[in-house]
Parts: sequence; structure tokens; C-alpha cells
Amino acid sequence: MELTSTDDEHDPEGQTTAVDRSRTEALLASAEQHLVDLDAAEQRLEEGTYGRCEVCGREIPRARLEVRPTARTCVDHAA
Ligand SMILES: [Zn+2]
Repeated sequence: MELTSTDDEHDPEGQTTAVDRSRTEALLASAEQHLVDLDAAEQRLEEGTYGRCEVCGREIPRARLEVRPTARTCVDHAA
């Protein structure tokens, strides 16, 4: 029996690839946004403002930071 793996990649519908591509691009965009958030969190760490709400200046509850380490605001001021 001969192995012809190239045929497996042929998609007669031509749809699956487009869907996968769109999903991948959405994931990439979300990952890039996450990187931006991480960068901002790191900058706030350096400035000593990490863990403080950008709106009211109160400390963000630790439980919230554990769930969302990149949170910039307290629960009251979350968008
Ligand atoms: Zn606040």
C-alpha cells in the first residue's frame, strides 16, 4: 500500500481553510491585545501604579487581579 498523504490536504469544498484562517486571525488579534495589556501592566509595575484603579485610584482587590492580572480598574469602573 502506498502512502499518498498529499491528497488529504486537498479540500474540495474550499471552505474549511477560510474558516480556520479567520478563526486564527481572531485568535492572533486577541493575543496581540493581550500582549498590549501585559506591556501596560508591566509599565504600571515599574511606575508603582500597578494594582490601582486608573479612574478612582483605589487599590484593585487582589481577587480581581488574580483573575485578571492586567485589570486597570476596580470592579466599579470596569468597562
Ligand atoms: Zn475605580
